Amino acid sequence: MLGLVELADSDGLFDTYGAESFATMRDEFFRRMQRWARANDRWRLLERNRFCVVLRGVDGRAQLELAAAKLARLFEEPLSVFGRPVQLEVKAGFAALARPELEDELAMHQAGLALRSARRSPRLFELYSPDVEADHKDRRALLKSLERAVELGELQLYFQPKVHAGYLNVVGAEALMRWHSPERGVVQPDMFIPLAERNGVIRPMTWWAVKSAIARLARWPAALSIAVNIPPNLLLDDEIITVIRDSLAIHEVDPERLTLEVTESVMVDNQDRMLKQLARLRGMGLRVAIDDFGTGFSSLAYFRDLPADEIKIDKSFVLRMLESGRDHAIVKAVIDLAHNFSLKVVAEGVEDERTAKRLSDMRCDVLQGYAFDKPLRLEEFEKRYL
Ligand code: C2E
Ligand code: CA
Ligand code: CA
Repeated sequence: MLGLVELADSDGLFDTYGAESFATMRDEFFRRMQRWARANDRWRLLERNRFCVVLRGVDGRAQLELAAAKLARLFEEPLSVFGRPVQLEVKAGFAALARPELEDELAMHQAGLALRSARRSPRLFELYSPDVEADHKDRRALLKSLERAVELGELQLYFQPKVHAGYLNVVGAEALMRWHSPERGVVQPDMFIPLAERNGVIRPMTWWAVKSAIARLARWPAALSIAVNIPPNLLLDDEIITVIRDSLAIHEVDPERLTLEVTESVMVDNQDRMLKQLARLRGMGLRVAIDDFGTGFSSLAYFRDLPADEIKIDKSFVLRMLESGRDHAIVKAVIDLAHNFSLKVVAEGVEDERTAKRLSDMRCDVLQGYAFDKPLRLEEFEKRYL
């Protein structure tokens, strides 16, 4: 059996901790790999964070499961980097060899495909099978048609109302992308945004979303705002400044009516650059909202320096807050904390009136969710709310 094992960087660990600590992580990766390999296995370093191994006497899935379980155990224990516990994560792809112990090109290629598929899955490893290959081809095809969709104008923005928690009037909308594909029908963003983010198509898509939202604002009453989702890496792209500035000027829209939603995770990596960029955007008069709040690793210090206007409590807490005392406590703590720092609080995923009422009693500022409306096509939104 041939395997490719790599030290994964899913949370951007390597950048967060700098070169010196990357070396520490890599050394520890080597050490644990050494403990994993058995005397007759052959292994060699391919890249700075990837090994190629030939496992002797492992030829079926069952034996592989055992070997992988041992690998998982070896990486359970966190490593201490600058006194902070860091969880090293490995991903592996395996493929059967045509002749045992003899590395061949085909197995190498197949193990590579299996590794790619493992990276996208919660599992530690994948074993190559024709399915893995088909999956890979499907994604390539999906990506191709997505690139065409951007050019052909098959993307649409849907709008979901954001409602004032006290008066229940609509104060604006979140713009959410949908893809109207002639072959696939209406495709939900979870199906194509992550793929787009890994491939750079997300750039033209995001600029398009920002421009469309601003053009829409020009036609809506001045009291309404629109929120657009911005992926972390594009927030640091200087073109975002020009795109926004030019569109606002062309359409003569007040910058305060545009909110940029960025996920909490952006604050973990590249913190300094990110804080500066957020401050710069706010300096232009735009609003910044921290999306999916509660799912990342924010500290209290983070609140103090945060150049934002709004916190969106993640729907995972809101959905169950009436049943789960813990979720309720988290929602309450976030609202109080945010208010102490003069941040507005939006709750997303408000699915029923009881939750809406409770959030309003807790002094949450704005509500969004199926209790009011689903994301609606533009015409439908305008018919109902303008
Ligand atoms: P998000 O930014 O957290 O958006 C909120 C999601 O919650 C939306 O899913 C919305 O339809 C859903 N939602 C709203 N109310 C409720 C509710 O009461 N209950 C439940 N269970 N869900 C509710 P949607 O539209 O499928 O979007 C999913 C994700 O895709 C978004 O999560 C966002 O991360 C991404 N996305 C959507 N549009 C864009 C876009 O234009 N650009 C980027 N970069 N990402 C986008
Ligand atoms: Ca959002
Ligand atoms: Ca969210």
